[in-house]
Amino acid sequence: MALENVKINASSGTIEYLNTKYIYVSQSRDLKIDRSVSYAGIIIDGKNLDFTKMVVKRIRGNQNSEIYLKPIIILNGNAHRDVFIKNLIDGVIFSFDQIPLINEHVSEINNLSKEITIINSISFEAMIVSKLLYFMFTRNLKMLEPVPYALSNTNYSFPFLACNFSDFEEFQVLEMLEIATQEGLFKHKFLDRIYLCSNCKSSHLSFREACPKCGSSHTDTFDIVHHFPCAYVGPITDFTNDIDDQLNCPKCSKKLKHIGVDYDKPSVLHQCKNCDNRFQDFHVKAKCMSCTFDNPVETLVDKEINEYTLTKKGESYALQGYVSTPKDIEDIIGTVKFDTFKTVCRYEVERLRQTEGSSNIVAINIVNAGQFYAKVGSNAQQMLLKDLVGEIRSSIRSSDMITFYSSSVILVTMFEIPTKISQRIMDDVLKLLEKLIQNNFKDLVIEIKSNVHQLNYNLSSELQINQLIGM
Ligand SMILES: [Zn+2]
Ligand SMILES: [Zn+2]
Ligand SMILES: [Zn+2]
Repeated sequence: MALENVKINASSGTIEYLNTKYIYVSQSRDLKIDRSVSYAGIIIDGKNLDFTKMVVKRIRGNQNSEIYLKPIIILNGNAHRDVFIKNLIDGVIFSFDQIPLINEHVSEINNLSKEITIINSISFEAMIVSKLLYFMFTRNLKMLEPVPYALSNTNYSFPFLACNFSDFEEFQVLEMLEIATQEGLFKHKFLDRIYLCSNCKSSHLSFREACPKCGSSHTDTFDIVHHFPCAYVGPITDFTNDIDDQLNCPKCSKKLKHIGVDYDKPSVLHQCKNCDNRFQDFHVKAKCMSCTFDNPVETLVDKEINEYTLTKKGESYALQGYVSTPKDIEDIIGTVKFDTFKTVCRYEVERLRQTEGSSNIVAINIVNAGQFYAKVGSNAQQMLLKDLVGEIRSSIRSSDMITFYSSSVILVTMFEIPTKISQRIMDDVLKLLEKLIQNNFKDLVIEIKSNVHQLNYNLSSELQINQLIGM
């Protein structure tokens, strides 16, 4: 290995090896995550665990695929031994001279990243699922395993997903996985069960046995003694004395001889040192160490911890992205899933082959959607999409379908109608949409385009949809 091929530029914090450039991140340098876009990989100084974790989380939690998919290499230190970090990095080196050892692996990841079509999902949930699928694809991962992690608010962590949430929101990771499993992207296998605080959904709970009357856990426990000859039943303290170790019955004053012969200890009795209440069964309480709420155990939220395996369907979504959850489709009334849309178009092409009628598919493209969404946030995005769909819906027939290809491309069917008329309807729709946006978002300019395509029964519907999207 030719070590002289590794060129280190200390002032810019970059390292070059055979035309591959890396950026070096350490505590003594300004952290500019955005700068990493133009490099093949990020090398992080691993001497300080907190620093390394912070940087890794910011990279994997970023919303730009050119940042969150970036190969991460840890240099020196012990940070890579932390299970959370271990699951998020792509290699470890102990000197820059070892870059040739990881360089090929880094190129592999970058090449796989190029195979993905990155699309914008219509909701935060769908975006997180897309991110996970993209990450697994570029790392050749087929399985997603939870790692036991004391620093995780849910005790088990799915590190890549956890990077997208603050500590107190980490339970939402489990909801993301539930969505992905319901959609058939993953199969799951039960591993364990966790309990979450009903107030803040943290799993950092301290379980205690407490007095059912006052809730204190400051208690004593005594054996209960049953004296057979006289049938007296009472706590053992009724039978003890200050002089010797002998047990004497307070009712019949006889000496107790052998357990099982003349007396028995049928159960125990608890006494609260706070309120003197005597009771047989404790209340079990779980005090939350995150928010201090003392949960009666019956009210804890239980969640399954599973191991997840990518399905064939999941693998295909890893290449094309996951646009909308079933809830998104439900929330945006009048839309169908992209898969349904594709199926309907396939049948329509078949039908046209026999009837030779005129049917069209239309794409409405919000040209600068990315900029707009970044400015207004995901709630406003959802609102806008709802309004746009409502407006489109009112201009087309109820038999026609609307779907999202991405958060910037809406597809519409306009079957059994001349293309010229479809075109005219779309022109009117665009005017309406422009007006709608002007009225709602005064200082933002959004450019919307539409493209009407007449279905050709000699070509596959899939191909024609792809051409339309590529407008
Ligand atoms: Zn709590
Ligand atoms: Zn008490
Ligand atoms: Zn007795």
